[in-house]
Amino acid sequence: MPRRNPSFHLLQPRPHPSLLSLVVPVYNEEAMVPLLRQALEQFMSEVAGDTEIILVNDGSSDSTLEQIAAWATEDPRVKVLHLSRNFGHQVACTAGLDFASGDAVVLIDADLQDPPQVIHEMISRYRDGYDVVYGQRRTRQGETWFKRFTAWLFYRLMRSLVHKDLPVDTGDFRLISRNCLDGLRKMRETHRFLRGMVAWVGYPQIGVPYERSARLVGETKYPLHKMLSFAWTAATSFSTLPLHASTTLGFLVTLFGLEEGVRAVLAHVFHWYVVPGWTTLMVAFSVIGGTLLTSIGILGEYVGKLYEQSKDRPLYLVARTFNIGITRDEAAGEPLSRSEYR
Ligand code: UDP
Ligand code: MG
Repeated sequence: MPRRNPSFHLLQPRPHPSLLSLVVPVYNEEAMVPLLRQALEQFMSEVAGDTEIILVNDGSSDSTLEQIAAWATEDPRVKVLHLSRNFGHQVACTAGLDFASGDAVVLIDADLQDPPQVIHEMISRYRDGYDVVYGQRRTRQGETWFKRFTAWLFYRLMRSLVHKDLPVDTGDFRLISRNCLDGLRKMRETHRFLRGMVAWVGYPQIGVPYERSARLVGETKYPLHKMLSFAWTAATSFSTLPLHASTTLGFLVTLFGLEEGVRAVLAHVFHWYVVPGWTTLMVAFSVIGGTLLTSIGILGEYVGKLYEQSKDRPLYLVARTFNIGITRDEAAGEPLSRSEYR
């Protein structure tokens, strides 16, 4: 008997995924690979059903590729997609999702900040009938107060302004069912904010809380400037709110300009001023100039995005693979024809 859940869907319980895919983007994680291997082998020995691991090497310049290729030759469950260069975390995840063939796919970072044990709970929610089970961070250890605060603020702002359905305090650590993945794979936008895209897809979604631990070794690949640009992509790739905001701002400044204009005319007619209002002029001039430039800038951001998208380039290119056969078209960025699922 299907049972109801807090969302508006009717949950349909289902069996354990016969094949589970773990998608792991790796970028300069040479110190992490042995630990990752240990943790994932431990996880695979605990989980029922088959598991495949898709390691996406996102243009690492250290010994990561050698190590994961060696791992793949020893273990046929491990598949490696070696991208032609560094494409960034979101695109690396996309590549892994494109080539995953499981009934359920889990996105997980290589640095073990997201503990693989949580996947067991995700699978049991999947079996209850949920299509997306995202990890929700209860705590974030080993991160600066600045990162914690900006992350806190980011999710609240995004939720209230842009993505109404975006769950708070979640990263990309999540389980996605085949249904949902089929929809997600069709979304080929250049500027990618995966967690927003997963929220957009819909289906029954639920979170499982977990403690986010500190990165074991190595350092974050998300310095401040990358975080800011990621936040900007999140805000602009999903909504035209910044454009509306610039219109509103323009309207307010116009009102201010009108008020100043009326005042200037009245002053002229009634001879209010003996000395011309230089300060007023300068203020009005600067405010209007600044607002115009900002609005044009925001407009430009969108034109730039249209330009990027209109080139219709592949999202990534695959240079080499281990333990996974792909066609030349797929390697050249056309993975959508692929339907090698269990
Ligand atoms: N990563 C990637 N490409 C990049 C940057 C990062 O594939 O350009 C991978 C990285 O190896 C890790 C995951 O994405 O597995 C998350 O990166 P990181 O831990 O540095 O981010 P943070 O947890 O600090 O936000
Ligand atoms: Mg990390």
